[in-house]
Amino acid sequence: MNILVINCGSSSLKFQVIDTDNGSVLAKGLCERIGIDGAITYQNVRDHGGKIKTKTQIEDHKKAISLVLDAITDPQGGVVKTLAEIGAVGHRIVHGGEKFTESTLIDDDVIQGIREVSDLAPLHNPANLTGILACRALMPNTPMVAVFDTSFHQTMPPKAYLYALPQKYYEKYRIRRYGFHGTSHKYVSRAVASFLGKKPEDLKTIVCHLGNGASVSAVEYGKCIDTSMGLTPLEGLIMGTRSGDVDPAVVSYIADKENITASEVIDILNKESGVEALSGGLSDFRDLWDARDRGDEKATLALDAWAYRVAKYIGAYVAAMNGVDVIAFTAGIGENDDKSRALIYQYLGYLGITIDDAKNAATHGDAAIISTPESKVTVVVYPTNEELAIAQDTLALVEGARKN
Ligand code: AMP
Repeated sequence: MNILVINCGSSSLKFQVIDTDNGSVLAKGLCERIGIDGAITYQNVRDHGGKIKTKTQIEDHKKAISLVLDAITDPQGGVVKTLAEIGAVGHRIVHGGEKFTESTLIDDDVIQGIREVSDLAPLHNPANLTGILACRALMPNTPMVAVFDTSFHQTMPPKAYLYALPQKYYEKYRIRRYGFHGTSHKYVSRAVASFLGKKPEDLKTIVCHLGNGASVSAVEYGKCIDTSMGLTPLEGLIMGTRSGDVDPAVVSYIADKENITASEVIDILNKESGVEALSGGLSDFRDLWDARDRGDEKATLALDAWAYRVAKYIGAYVAAMNGVDVIAFTAGIGENDDKSRALIYQYLGYLGITIDDAKNAATHGDAAIISTPESKVTVVVYPTNEELAIAQDTLALVEGARKN
């Protein structure tokens, strides 16, 4: 089945057409600056086409979706003849709250449910909903599925997801830890098990999703029991521009000293912190390593602090699961950056982990075991593929509904 995967941001929309028969990407692209001016980048991957960027007015998400549908059905560059060849649409939804514990076929109740949890992700969920409504208007008979970033983490027990706050805040506002990147943590934990010829139910796995946004999860026998992001993606690891864990008192302290509001401080913690702040302006790890190699002390500190935080979370999750069988590295840094992986595994010797340094240095973007055969824990690099995971969930639900 050909599935259109849509990932809507507030002013952008990423898309892929995936043939689930073989998992191949037929076409992909991006609509940018929606509501500002607009541009669509489109690539026919199936026929090895290059990226074509066209500037055009994109006043809203409905216009963006209609441009996407025109591009994929275009007689020259398209990948399907008519929209009837698109069997379903899979939508990435950032926050499913406690309501959505798994992916689900979209109907009016689901749309209402996503709306109800929008307070928890005010920047993302409304944009995700706009994408759903736009698709519905333009493809009214095509089934659609919502795949939530949070749902894989809904198996966390209360001791992991509750903040030690007055209960009324949980009861009134559902303030708790939710976790994000769930599609990636689920996909990688399962794919790694199969890569190793094992079943997820037999493994204790720690997945390190290390990209510009980053999180670690503890996946015990196939179920997530803890993850580093919280109510929002700000908690946990040091990221590109996010601080990760800080003493919450920092917020009021800065607000008072700088005479700004708490939400302005949170904006600083999200957008002006992380390795970018520690290094004095660099958030891309290639730039950080170039600077470190030149002897830049701030870049060196930023990378060391980043790796130290990842290692601390790995240690915490080994304790949470009373052991670990597999540690998996994924996402932009986890897949590509052998030097950053090496900074992390220097802390892991106590687990009986031994790494094949040459194998680590040679692994960039491919699935590979980088630990030695003697290592007590198998350390794996595995590329994430959130779009394929969304397409697979979409296919399963649409086919399940057809059979019923
Ligand atoms: P993601 O958010 O998963 O797309 O990851 C993006 C980040 O991955 C970038 O900001 C870079 O820091 C990092 N990255 C991507 N490719 C490489 C590479 N070849 N070497 C080092 N870091 C990389």
